[in-house]
Amino acid sequence: MVQIVVLGGSFGGLTAALELKRLLGRQAEVTVVSEEDRFVFLPSLPWLIMGWRKPGDITLKVAGILQPRGINFVHAAALEVQPEPRLVRTTLGELSYDYLVVSTGPQLAFDEIPGLGPDQGHTDCTFTIDHALRTGKTWQAILESPGPVVVGSAQMVSCFGPSYELAFEMDAELRRRRMRHKVPILYLTSEPYLGHMGVGGLGNSKRFMEDEFAAKDIKPIVNQAIDEVAPGEIRLKDGSKIPFKLAMLAPPFKGVPAVAPLGNPRGFVPVDHHYRHTRHPNIFVIGVAMAIAPPEPTPIPVGVPKTGSMTVRMAKVAAAAISAEIHGTPLPSPEELAVICLMDMGDTAALMKAWPLLPPRQESYTRKGVWAKWLKLSFERYFLFKMKHGYSQLP
Ligand SMILES: Cc1cc2nc3c(=O)[nH]c(=O)nc-3n(C[C@H](O)[C@H](O)[C@H](O)COP(=O)(O)OP(=O)(O)OC[C@H]3O[C@@H](n4cnc5c(N)ncnc54)[C@H](O)[C@@H]3O)c2cc1C
Repeated sequence: MVQIVVLGGSFGGLTAALELKRLLGRQAEVTVVSEEDRFVFLPSLPWLIMGWRKPGDITLKVAGILQPRGINFVHAAALEVQPEPRLVRTTLGELSYDYLVVSTGPQLAFDEIPGLGPDQGHTDCTFTIDHALRTGKTWQAILESPGPVVVGSAQMVSCFGPSYELAFEMDAELRRRRMRHKVPILYLTSEPYLGHMGVGGLGNSKRFMEDEFAAKDIKPIVNQAIDEVAPGEIRLKDGSKIPFKLAMLAPPFKGVPAVAPLGNPRGFVPVDHHYRHTRHPNIFVIGVAMAIAPPEPTPIPVGVPKTGSMTVRMAKVAAAAISAEIHGTPLPSPEELAVICLMDMGDTAALMKAWPLLPPRQESYTRKGVWAKWLKLSFERYFLFKMKHGYSQLP
């Protein structure tokens, strides 16, 4: 039986494992290794911070998803991948593989900026459920004792959407409570302009964000790198200082240590059109862990986002390629990825789309409407239902 090991139990890892089992059945033993035993629907973390969701609303047990489908789950961290003996070393021992699928997401590199982050530093974060729960407490403290809020992204970030969402959501919640005038909101970013999002913008996203920020009195500071953070003060590389009571800042991204040696200097792994490692043909890397070159150089370095929908697409392509290879059938045709993002704005939302991912593009736009909010709310329920029942073949 073919041994397939999947690293990561989130959007990419779970979709890949379910698809591999669906396509290969008893021909393959599929084992998922993940250091987190819950699937967290990360796009809802800003709602958790705002108090609009509880952890139980947006999490599922990984074992509960995999075991009914005959997929093994090892709740452990991968420590090292050894491509030559085809071995993964984990905190619970070694696993050998014929194929390896890596979807380990980002390492949040708070340590690259002194004073950044909730554990060793002075800022909050929205990228893990534990960080989001802590940020929720800081947000409650702001509601009780108002003060300046800074939301945004440091240099080398490749996921900008949640920071925009939080800025809009905080604005909406403060207006609802008639206390917006007591809380200045500043959006600080490494993007060269508002709405860049790491992909050179999505249609009219620059003008869209500028207009929305002006209408909502959110002050933007773009094209900035953070030097360090002291208690209550962000110090920028250009020498300016920004005071805060709550600072929710996305940290630089890099690859996780277990797979970083397979990748570029930031630890992101180069792959071909089927997400196969460029040097190790039986290793596939999908989602945030894989490398995509930025569309254009920016004064402050930013990364290209690998969204949830892109990650799910990558997982399906990689699984289809492995299945085709095992069955001796032609590989699926490569396809261009699209960015599709439903950005919550508190009392409304926007649909942002760009196809292909990098310019020049066939299609690219940002459109706002309450219909987008309904789409976003429905998508959360749909995706959690799909994951809970292991229906990886659904879109
Ligand atoms: C706050 C937030 C909001 C977002 N909003 C949206 C949105 O609205 N729309 C959208 O399309 N995308 C959104 N995204 C992006 C989306 O969540 C990611 O694209 C997606 O999570 C990437 O999936 P992944 O499998 O690559 O990595 P991740 O989801 O980061 O999962 C990585 C997995 O690997 C595990 N892992 C890590 N290291 C190891 C190791 N050494 N050993 C074993 N396991 C390991 C982790 O525990 C985790 O289970 C958002 C992301 C965040 C954080």
